[in-house]
Amino acid sequence: MADINIKVSENVPGPYYVDNECIACELCVTIASDNFKMANDRPQAYVFKQPENDQEKDACDDAMGACPVDAIGNDG
Ligand code: SF4
Repeated sequence: MADINIKVSENVPGPYYVDNECIACELCVTIASDNFKMANDRPQAYVFKQPENDQEKDACDDAMGACPVDAIGNDG
């Protein structure tokens, strides 16, 4: 389960976030490319835009379910 206390600093405010357990597999970026991207300076993903419609929300939920280390959270 993701921990909001160790979330990656680049996450934009809102319910979805990536925490420091991320191992940079890039799966979330592939599944929800409108919302997740890789950081430029280190091997971690972050939420650059919160979902704005049901399609993006579904993609974020799919990414959360697919993350191999449970580094994606939704505290909304
Ligand atoms: S799916 Fe999980 S481990 Fe992979 S890049 Fe995204 S947050 Fe990181």
